[in-house]
Amino acid sequence: VGGGRAVPASGRVRRRGRRTGTGGLAQRGPGRGPAGLGFLGYVVTLRTRTLVTIGVTLVGLVAALYVISQIVVVGGFADQEELDARREVARVIGALDDDLSHLQGTAADWAIWDDTYEYVTNGDPRYYSSNLAGDVPMASNDLSLMAFVNSWGETVFVKWYDRGKAASAPVPAGLGEHLAPGKPLSTHSSPNSRISGLILLPEGPLTVVSMPILKSDGSGPVAGALVMGRMLDTHELAALSQTTLISLTAYRVDDPNLPRDFADAMPALAAPREVAVQPIDDGRLGGYTMLADVYGKPAVLLRAELPRTTLTRGQGTVQLFMIGMVLVGLVFGLVILALLERLVMSRLLRLSAGVERIAQTRKPDARVEEAGGDELGRLARDIIRMLDALAESSERGRQSEARFQAVFKTALDPFMVFDDSGKIVEANPAACKLLGLSEQSVLGHTFGHFLPEPSKAAMQDLWARTLAQGGGWGETHIMLPDGQHRDIEFYTRPNVLPGNHFVAVRDVTDRKLLEGRLEYQAFHDSLTGLPNRTLFLQRLSTVIERSRRGHGMVALLFLDLDDFKVINDSLGHKAGDRLLMSVSERLLTCIRPGDMVARLGGDEFTVLVDSLNDVRDAERVAGRIVESVKRPFDLDGQQVFISTSIGIALSVTGSDRPDDLLRNADVAMYEAKQRGKSRYAIFDQSMNVRAWKRLQTEIDLRRALDKGEFVVYYQPVVRLDTRRVAEVEALVRWQHPQRGLVPPAEFIPVAEETGLIVDLGLWVLEQSCRQMRQWQHALGNSAPAAIGVNLSARQFKDPALLSDIGRVLDDTGLDARCLNLEITESVGMDDPDSAGAVLHALRDMGVSLTLDDFGTGYSALSHLRRFPINGLKIDGSFVRDMGVRAEDTAIVHALVAFARTLKLKVAAEGVETAEQAAYLHALGCDRGQGYYFARPVGPAQMEVFLKAGRLPFEVVEPALRTG
Ligand code: C2E
Ligand code: CA
Ligand code: CA
Repeated sequence: VGGGRAVPASGRVRRRGRRTGTGGLAQRGPGRGPAGLGFLGYVVTLRTRTLVTIGVTLVGLVAALYVISQIVVVGGFADQEELDARREVARVIGALDDDLSHLQGTAADWAIWDDTYEYVTNGDPRYYSSNLAGDVPMASNDLSLMAFVNSWGETVFVKWYDRGKAASAPVPAGLGEHLAPGKPLSTHSSPNSRISGLILLPEGPLTVVSMPILKSDGSGPVAGALVMGRMLDTHELAALSQTTLISLTAYRVDDPNLPRDFADAMPALAAPREVAVQPIDDGRLGGYTMLADVYGKPAVLLRAELPRTTLTRGQGTVQLFMIGMVLVGLVFGLVILALLERLVMSRLLRLSAGVERIAQTRKPDARVEEAGGDELGRLARDIIRMLDALAESSERGRQSEARFQAVFKTALDPFMVFDDSGKIVEANPAACKLLGLSEQSVLGHTFGHFLPEPSKAAMQDLWARTLAQGGGWGETHIMLPDGQHRDIEFYTRPNVLPGNHFVAVRDVTDRKLLEGRLEYQAFHDSLTGLPNRTLFLQRLSTVIERSRRGHGMVALLFLDLDDFKVINDSLGHKAGDRLLMSVSERLLTCIRPGDMVARLGGDEFTVLVDSLNDVRDAERVAGRIVESVKRPFDLDGQQVFISTSIGIALSVTGSDRPDDLLRNADVAMYEAKQRGKSRYAIFDQSMNVRAWKRLQTEIDLRRALDKGEFVVYYQPVVRLDTRRVAEVEALVRWQHPQRGLVPPAEFIPVAEETGLIVDLGLWVLEQSCRQMRQWQHALGNSAPAAIGVNLSARQFKDPALLSDIGRVLDDTGLDARCLNLEITESVGMDDPDSAGAVLHALRDMGVSLTLDDFGTGYSALSHLRRFPINGLKIDGSFVRDMGVRAEDTAIVHALVAFARTLKLKVAAEGVETAEQAAYLHALGCDRGQGYYFARPVGPAQMEVFLKAGRLPFEVVEPALRTG
């Protein structure tokens, strides 16, 4: 019954088992049947399998045994049986032979006897009466036939005896033919000849013996043949059966009623005395042989019967053995099943029920029962160990999950987990914040779902790409539902768990903004917003490249505002900046849309004009700019005038390097300034030569300073009332090895540009102070009261100025009150506060300060009160035209009056005539300086002037090359 149901049950169970295996415990549905049922299915199967296995083995074993016993045992018995049968037949033949030889002996007795010899030869009746008469001789010798045939073949005597009736009987008719003359039985050619065997008579087979009749001494000649015979009848066979204890049957070969088994055996019996064995029926076995007659022809078939006891007994034994075997097998199988049930199945069921229970309750600390030290016990312990490991790993997993959740929840950057279809499975608070939605409304949607249409596709792309690349980094621009634009970065790690794609998002909007701003700053001027030098040069190389490919020529306009420094110094930096912005705006109005205006720094601008067919186009732009800049600028209601000088460099072939072009334009601009400013100049190579010269000067200057090629000349400043030297101004010259004495106008600007003036000025200061000290030593009271040293604005910005001056005074030992520093109005105008501080410090040291070139500046007057100035020096240009231009006379007058109100000493430069000296004196000017009194001279000459006292003093000034 169990087996019949087992197949579907096990099939169902197996399917269920497989699903459990793939889906895991967690996915097992609640609709599942009772826990034990599944295992019952397995039990039945296992049992059936054992049963079937044992059964099949048993059947196979029994069948094999059966076959083997059939072949070996029964076959062996059959062989034995045949052997027995042959032996029995042989015994029967032996018994027949015994009979025959017995008959032969009897015949020999009679044949080798003189009486017989006589009887056959002569026919003696006595012999007949004493030996042959009556039935006695036949009966006593148990004969059926006795016959004497003489040597002529005449039958001398013949007698037939019926042994059954024990009486003489007539001689059978068929006998005569066998005894006829010449027949084997009747004829003996030699005394040793003997015939014995069978002859077939119609009455039945007859055993016959024929002997030659000889004399008693065995000698011949052969008198005839003595023939004796005995019928082989039922009686004879019974006797034979009795002696051999074998049941015998005989048939004539020619018997028409020959039984079937005889006929079957006949073919195997071709030769006489051969034996054939075959079963007669189930109980008997027949041994057959054939007896031939005296002529050698088959005559009689003889069968010996044997009961088949051996075989039947053998078969019985085998059957018994087989039954025994089956019984043993059945018992064995049952024992095994019982053992299986007791030792394995019941415990396995318990174990599986335990596991099932754990699986259903899903309590990690539940355990199965553990028993025994065998394999099942071990299995139970293994399960327990496995449960321990599971519990431990699930605890670890729980902790890891908790840690992950903590990180995930608190992370400031958005994190999301997506499934294969791109839907959000998890999103941390930062991610929800980014989207501006709650977690509930985020989960289950794709990220693109929250984005407006244009961002969706980009998102899709990014997602597909990062997935295809097995993760990575991506960047995109999205618009959020509230319309906000954000730049975001993505880091994706697909399949962190199968089908779980991890995405870290970062909102990089602010960084992008900053990057953009920084990039803008890197390429733009902060004040005007125009492209800066870097961007300009980039653009320049691009358009040069383009012009090489036949897009017309490129013109680079290099602008420098004329005297912008003055504006900056007089109106202040803020005003200067505003002016620069206004200029940049105005420049933009002068160019075509595609052209570029850039600010290189300071008051330098560049304009790039490309795709030109004609130089005149560039000139037109430059002219337009010059004119445009000339128009007044309005700075907070104040009108300001400025102009610009422009250098134009052209790239015609497109082979120029941007830097070269820029430098060329710069050179041309310098040239435009040289030519009188507020104009443009187109670069040509000759300009380069001049520029190169300037550069050469710079190099030479540096070398000259090292080599000591500079010399200081001195020019006296004379008191106009006494005409005595009040002080001396130090004026530097360059004793050039080739060019001779070079005036400061030719190198001071270059020295100022390059900063070399700081070192040069210091050198002049030191030289002058030392000279002054020397005069003080040498001349005593005749020495000038002070030495005037010119100070460039550039020097004023040198932070070491104060300490340098202090050091020089210390080194030379000159009293600070004997040093008068001449500064121009531009000094400290860009930073009045710090300049004021430096000037105050100098005053505190005791140094006097004089404002040089007074009257040429702009707004010096406003600063005069703030700066601790001791004196003024009216610029020579006013003095020169004094009396010629009423205006200038008025200015000098005003300047002197101004100085006097401020209680400042006032001196005039460039006094070349006595009239000028007299007039200045009349105006109230204290001092004068100029060629009228003395030209700048070397120290030795100066000493002569000083000793002379009053000036002018007739001397010949050393040749001074000018220009
Ligand atoms: P400055 O300070 O105004 O010097 C006066 C200039 O006027 C000198 O020119 C002087 O030779 C010239 N001069 C004097 N009397 C007359 C006159 O009657 N008629 C004419 N036409 N000119 C007269 P110099 O020596 O060529 O110097 C030119 C300028 O070079 C100076 O102008 C000064 O600004 C600057 N300089 C000279 N030496 C130094 C120096 O050591 N340091 C600095 N920073 N500048 C110096
Ligand atoms: Ca001066
Ligand atoms: Ca001056």
